[in-house]
Amino acid sequence: MLQNIPTGLSVLELIYLIASVLFILGLKKLSHPETARRGNILSAAGMIMAIICTILFHKKDGQPIGHIGLILLAISIGTFIGWTIAVKVKMTAMPQLVSFFNGMGGAAAALISLMEFPRMNPDLIARTGMMNGHAIAILLGLIIGSVSFAGSMIAFGKLAEKIGDPKLKFMRVVNLTFMAGILAFTVFILTQKNIHLENISWMAYVLLGLSLIYGVTFVIPIGGADMPVVISLLNSFTGVAAAMGGFLYDNQVMLTGGILVGSAGTILTILMCKAMNRSLLNVLVGAFGGGGAGLDKVAGNIKEISVSDAAVLLSYSQKVVIVPGYGLAVAQAQHLCHEMEKMLDEKGVNVRYAIHPVAGRMPGHMNVLLAEADVPYDRLSESDEINEDMPNVDVVVVIGANDVVNPAAVDDPSSPIYGMPVVRVWEAKNVIVMKRGMGKGYAAIENFLFYNDNTRMLFGNAKESLQKLISEIKSL
Ligand code: NDP
Repeated sequence: MLQNIPTGLSVLELIYLIASVLFILGLKKLSHPETARRGNILSAAGMIMAIICTILFHKKDGQPIGHIGLILLAISIGTFIGWTIAVKVKMTAMPQLVSFFNGMGGAAAALISLMEFPRMNPDLIARTGMMNGHAIAILLGLIIGSVSFAGSMIAFGKLAEKIGDPKLKFMRVVNLTFMAGILAFTVFILTQKNIHLENISWMAYVLLGLSLIYGVTFVIPIGGADMPVVISLLNSFTGVAAAMGGFLYDNQVMLTGGILVGSAGTILTILMCKAMNRSLLNVLVGAFGGGGAGLDKVAGNIKEISVSDAAVLLSYSQKVVIVPGYGLAVAQAQHLCHEMEKMLDEKGVNVRYAIHPVAGRMPGHMNVLLAEADVPYDRLSESDEINEDMPNVDVVVVIGANDVVNPAAVDDPSSPIYGMPVVRVWEAKNVIVMKRGMGKGYAAIENFLFYNDNTRMLFGNAKESLQKLISEIKSL
């Protein structure tokens, strides 16, 4: 196969180079909320350009690509389904959507390998047996793509709360067994010398089956709340599987695209683990949550604040910091939050947002949420930046955040979040916490911030509390 693909497709190669540059520029722009939309469009333009030009200019055995009608039909169906789902999805369901789309990428990479395995070049096999770069790329694409597909589907089910977190202690042994099985079977295939292509298909299907089962057993024991990290890891797998397709077809844009996805996914996985102060191994094998000091260690009492007192306190402050968290996304209160911020701003209050890197349930969750409500980017600050100025802040309003403002990260070594960088809201003069009740956060641990002398609770759904607060501020 590989040998049959003619080289010297100079126009196409040039276009692939431009498309790859667009991917890289797009990726760079994705790193800032202000430029992220443009980055997305730039990368998508590179991808569209690569697809159209491949259809137009790619030649195999001197012949242009056939079945153009079928290809366009498949692209149209895929685009329609993808577009419809993406437009309808709620912000809080974004992680499972990403997981689903990632799974489709893995499946596509695995299908390519499945197709190409029995179509390998017989001359090549006669010369080298199965131990050649072509076979290795096919096998890796098949294994990694299938694991990514099956794992992403389980992650999707967990995030959509359709699959629970079974406590299966023996799962690690099952996992290792399947991994060893996959390795052994791959070695078996690669060491075949005089193999006939007719006998090769069953091997591909056995490997596919083993890899799909491994994808399931790999993800099923991991806690649902850790799925964003797992998705990021599986995303990097999909990138590597796609890169294998690039090797296979000697297609530069597929190769660079796959490598970029693979490395970006790996970097994101590492950053998320760092922001939670956990190792990747701990995410993959350790059940997270619970533990830390219990309520018997509490020194103070819960103190509530009325809406009118909160309105007065905020309106007559000089510096206010808003800390948004997962609850703000659940309540979909970002627009009201922006409205309150504007009203305070008109009263001469300096209002900023402290954005914690893992607030919410996916990377950049709070940035996306606040951008949707048109909050100006220059009002958003990284938590580290705001922490330095915290003692000068008059009021911190914590809206639906919990773990990211938990002092246990700083002063309780027994806590699972000990060492995680947090927004040190307790150092401000006053703290108002808006949440529905005494529900715990993702880490399922107590938060002593709520019992501090300078903390007051404004209980209720964030959306309703903000509505009341806004009308109270208006009337002042
Ligand atoms: P948390 O999950 O710690 O807390 C959210 C709080 O919001 C809850 O305590 C809940 O309390 C409150 N809440 C829920 N619904 C509402 C509502 N409708 N109105 C008002 N309050 C509400 O969120 P954080 O953002 O502080 O922390 C994120 C956590 O997720 C961290 O532990 C992080 O490590 C983890 N994580 C983040 C990832 C990411 O990529 N961002 C990935 C994986 C994990 P109550 O029920 O009382 O209302």
